Amino acid sequence: MKSESARVVLFLGAPGSGKGTQSGWLAARLGIPTVSTGEILRTAAKRNTAEGFRIRQLLSTGTLVDDQTVCAAVESRLRQDMPRKGLILDGFPRTVHQAEFLDTLLDSLGLPRPVVLHLDVSTSGLLRRLTGRRQCAVCGSVYNLTSKPSLRGSRCQKDGGALVQRDDDTEGVILRRMADFQATSAPLIAYYGPSVVVRVDGDHEPGAVAEAILHSIAPEMAYQLAVA
Ligand code: AMP
Repeated sequence: MKSESARVVLFLGAPGSGKGTQSGWLAARLGIPTVSTGEILRTAAKRNTAEGFRIRQLLSTGTLVDDQTVCAAVESRLRQDMPRKGLILDGFPRTVHQAEFLDTLLDSLGLPRPVVLHLDVSTSGLLRRLTGRRQCAVCGSVYNLTSKPSLRGSRCQKDGGALVQRDDDTEGVILRRMADFQATSAPLIAYYGPSVVVRVDGDHEPGAVAEAILHSIAPEMAYQLAVA
């Protein structure tokens, strides 16, 4: 269906499924921004306040942050500035309550239901990607020791910042985050229903996955693609 409304695109996928990479690529292709709740929370966690400390504790143990905090952050972002062609939500919703909240919010903004993409990746593929993931301490650019190394070794290609491992990318924490994802993804996929969720096989190299995504959303996002 061709829609001239702003569309919100969601990526459902386990940690390490490539949500960040693919949402960044799709955002550039469609000319729309990406809003990552993980990034919003990591920024909030750096604040030297009781709330910053509370969020820092939750993130460092891989625990999901409470729905109220995350929903408030997303609502504030969408009400403040809803781009004309829409945006990509990376990492949200992660619970059925968040999905219901988003539907109500979009409805109140006069927007259609989201386009829902599920990046499906095998467990072995996920572990390999996550333990090799490195992020620039300065600009947040993401690399991978095997699939996307920096041309400047342990420094960021863009600004020379040190490449560090995220606190929550250690194996124990990763297994915890995967368990959280398994527990929440099935109800979310059921909430949206198989006719809405677009499943994309994420076990391929990033360019091929990006092509598959574009192909599968083309009918719903014809307007966004036409004016990109
Ligand atoms: P991400 O960058 O999406 O992997 O998120 C990193 C961490 O931020 C997660 O492990 C959670 O602790 C927290 N987080 C991000 N998005 C959400 C969300 N929608 N609901 C609850 N916690 C979240």
